[in-house]
Amino acid sequence: RLRTEGLVRRFRGETVVDGIDLAVAPGKVTCLLGPSGCGKSTTLRIIAGVDRQDAGCVWLNGEVVSDDTRHLPPEARGVGLMFQDFALFPHLTVAQNVAFGLPKRQAAGARVAELLAKVDLTGYDDKHPHELSGGEQQRVALARALAPRPRVMLMDEPFSGLDNRLRDGIRDATLAVLKEEGTAVLLVTHEPDEAMRMADEIALMRGGKIVQQAAPYNIYNAPIDPAAAAFFSDIN
Ligand code: ATP
Ligand code: MG
Repeated sequence: RLRTEGLVRRFRGETVVDGIDLAVAPGKVTCLLGPSGCGKSTTLRIIAGVDRQDAGCVWLNGEVVSDDTRHLPPEARGVGLMFQDFALFPHLTVAQNVAFGLPKRQAAGARVAELLAKVDLTGYDDKHPHELSGGEQQRVALARALAPRPRVMLMDEPFSGLDNRLRDGIRDATLAVLKEEGTAVLLVTHEPDEAMRMADEIALMRGGKIVQQAAPYNIYNAPIDPAAAAFFSDIN
């Protein structure tokens, strides 16, 4: 569903994304994991279409959406986006937030109800974001991103605004909903434990490059070099 080949991005002569090849299959979660500044968000933004690469190609659902000659805008790419500040529209209700990206408002009711049930917020339709906890807001944001049935979901540190107590539960609940919807997920994180918990595959990134890509268990047990081992050493 998602594939990139040779993505390169430079800012003022400095190469921050340096030849990224990625593939994510339907229903699978790939985590782009790496330290701050290694180019994770830039890679995600290129795939989303809010930034443009200097070289390379992005395929979504079998179609080239961006290369040297072609650049589809984000809204034409069939991807769902969730970022760190999952900013809901404060003046809209929960139901209106979830329905926001849907083309026909009158047909939205069933899908909104289905999604609110999936994120365990049935009955929250008429509340406003300020009446919700952080975890509840995150779940509304997930429902909103999933409403148009994107086949690919791009997530950039979507749990970092949540307190530790909530985070594990929300991660698990989010993963369950994404699996149920069969969405291909590219999840950006700098936290190894999050990648271990959520990924089918981890792409370990450093200095704009993917230095190792494997299943969580394999990458944890056989890190490619001492730096990778050190990166994973904090988790138990
Ligand atoms: P973090 O974990 O801190 O979010 P990241 O891996 O997501 O880090 P990026 O946001 O992709 O890192 O940034 C990679 C590098 O590119 C950084 O050095 C950053 O300063 C630089 N950079 C990103 N966007 C721009 C921009 N628009 N103009 C100039 N430099 C940029
Ligand atoms: Mg980032």
